[in-house]
Amino acid sequence: MTRKGILFVISGPSGVGKGTVREALLEGRDDIQVSISATTRPPRKGEVDGVDYFFMDRETFLKKVEEGLFLEWANVYSNLYGTPRDFVLNHLNNGQDVLLEIDIQGALQVKEKMPEGVFIFLSPPSIEDLAKRLCQRGKDSQKSIEERLAACEQEMQQMCHYDYVVINDRVEDAVSKIEAIIAAERCRIHQ
Ligand code: 5GP
Repeated sequence: MTRKGILFVISGPSGVGKGTVREALLEGRDDIQVSISATTRPPRKGEVDGVDYFFMDRETFLKKVEEGLFLEWANVYSNLYGTPRDFVLNHLNNGQDVLLEIDIQGALQVKEKMPEGVFIFLSPPSIEDLAKRLCQRGKDSQKSIEERLAACEQEMQQMCHYDYVVINDRVEDAVSKIEAIIAAERCRIHQ
C-alpha cells in the first residue's frame, strides 16, 4: 500500500521571511511538492505566471472560490490568495509530501480540514526585528508597515494552534530546524 504523503504548512506573520526560508529549504531537494498559489496581486518584476503564482483577476479568483477549487483562501492585505485543492490532495494521495507557504488565516483553515498536517509557525526573533525586516525589504509603505506590525501581535497568539515554532533569526538555522522536523515526521509511526 502506498504511504499517504505528509502535508507541511509553513506560516507566520507578514515579513517574517517565509518565502526566503522556503526557497532555501527547497534548494537541491525534489522530495517535496510545493503548491503554487493563485493570487489577485499583480506580478512583481521577474515573477512568472504558473511558476511563482497563478496570477488572475478578482472575478476569476472568486469564481474558483464558488466552484470550491481552493483548499483555503484568504484576503492578505487587500489581495486574495488561495491554495489549489486538487494539486494538494492528488499529490498526498499519490504518496508525495506537499509544502504550503501561506498566511496564518489560511493555515488555520487548512488545520480545520486536515488536522493531520504538520503546522510550522515561523516566528520573528522580536517585534523590533520584524519592523527592521519590513523596512529593509522595501516593499511596504510606512502605513502598511504599521498595519503589519499591529497584525503581528494578534497573529503571534495563533501560535498555539501549530505543532512547531521555528524562530527565524538566521535563515540557515531556521532551514536546519525545518529539515529536522521533516525528517522526524517521516519517521513517525503514529500520525
Ligand atoms: P506575497 O504577495 O509577498 O508573495 O505574499 C503575501 C502573503 O501571502 C505571504 O504571507 C504569503 O505566505 C501569503 N500567501 C501566499 N500564497 C498564499 C495562499 O495560497 N494562501 C494564503 N492564505 N496565503 C498565501
